[in-house]
Amino acid sequence: MRRFKGGVHPPECKQLTEEKPIRKADPPKILYIPVSQHIGAPGKPIVAKGDKVDRGQRLTEPAGFVSVPVHSPVSGVVKSIEPFHHPLGKKLDTIIIENDGEERFSSELTAVENWQSLSPKDIIDIAKSAGLAGMGGATFPTHVKLSPPEGKKIDTVILNGAECEPYLTADYRLMLEFPDEIIEGMKMIMYTLGAENGFVAIEDNKPEAVKILSQKLSGSDITVVSLRTKYPQGAEKQLIKALTGREVPSGGLPFDVGAYVQNVGTAKALFDAVALGIPLIERVVTVTGSIVNTPANLLVRLGTQAKELISVCDGTSEPPAKLIAGGPMMGIAQYTDEFPIIKGTSGILILGQKEAAVNEPKPCIRCAKCVDVCPMNLVPTELANFAENSDWEKAEDNHILDCIECGSCSFVCPSERNLVQLIKYGKSEVTNIIRSRKQNG
Ligand code: SF4
Ligand code: SF4
Repeated sequence: MRRFKGGVHPPECKQLTEEKPIRKADPPKILYIPVSQHIGAPGKPIVAKGDKVDRGQRLTEPAGFVSVPVHSPVSGVVKSIEPFHHPLGKKLDTIIIENDGEERFSSELTAVENWQSLSPKDIIDIAKSAGLAGMGGATFPTHVKLSPPEGKKIDTVILNGAECEPYLTADYRLMLEFPDEIIEGMKMIMYTLGAENGFVAIEDNKPEAVKILSQKLSGSDITVVSLRTKYPQGAEKQLIKALTGREVPSGGLPFDVGAYVQNVGTAKALFDAVALGIPLIERVVTVTGSIVNTPANLLVRLGTQAKELISVCDGTSEPPAKLIAGGPMMGIAQYTDEFPIIKGTSGILILGQKEAAVNEPKPCIRCAKCVDVCPMNLVPTELANFAENSDWEKAEDNHILDCIECGSCSFVCPSERNLVQLIKYGKSEVTNIIRSRKQNG
């Protein structure tokens, strides 16, 4: 069985929504479109208050190479541009649009029937114009990933259908309901990169998805691989190791070992952009949790507020104690239900009082459980100590930046230490130190 070192087995909790077909949520009256929905420089607005916009119309201009535009998910009028709640947990510049319900569509993209007639550069340009960014949560601009540095040859493309995060089923439903579009998107990626090897990676707790994609791909040069269910199986470096045996070096990226990993949702979005001429203006979101009255997988216009989707799911059986954008392991806890869905929001998880109860952290008992489960071979207890003591030199020397923030260490810690939060804080401090070191030569 293909495997990686470490990892954990949190309760899967996918039964709440895995059998629920994707259903469309009606676009709301007001939509909130943050100009920053990706890793990299935020785009610059090219619309102003009072402007009439169409569905699919570009709202921002990318600010540099590592940047993508956002588009209007509805037709309507720009009400204002101002700081508004963002799932990152702060207020960021947001284009607020009043939906006129007319659904007028206009896009700079053109649907291409025979995409093989396009050059790789054409596909990269379309990915950028369509605003594509990794929809598994990483939100790295797709056109940048499709443009490896000179001299780096990518021979292997891995389509990530692992969806190892508990509760979430958006990718699973996409694989069941849109397999042809996903496969076509993957072929576009392989063609663009000139990659010979293709894998679709799915955890073995999703046998139906394995079956459908295997049938569709039988006789092709793309292999569907059923991976042992273990968190964080869907992390980029763990997938590469499990499928190719190659290890991305410390501080390195997948292209350093000739690999490219893309989430299934992003592959479908690439298909939509190239073959249908539709930019990224909607996505599937799992709205779930034991207190949600009707958990669901919803096709949602970007910019819809979480509270609207909770009400589409008939609300909750008790007042929510914790609201998370994403899943329980890597998601971000929210202070309001007014945050909008963005490109990387795969789920909304709502926990009740009992599930959300948190105990006071206790001192480390040096059991080494966190070390055993760390998939990156780190020593989480030490990294957390370095962060607590602001010992940034030791944090850097001990590879704190290799942490993939999977949360496995916090999950197993019997002392309930906030390991991943401390390490995340340490990573951001060390990143700032490295940046200023570079700036100062
Ligand atoms: S240190 Fe980072 S990579 Fe290792 S288990 Fe903790 S969160 Fe995951
Ligand atoms: S799992 Fe918790 S208690 Fe055990 S060594 Fe790590 S930090 Fe300490």
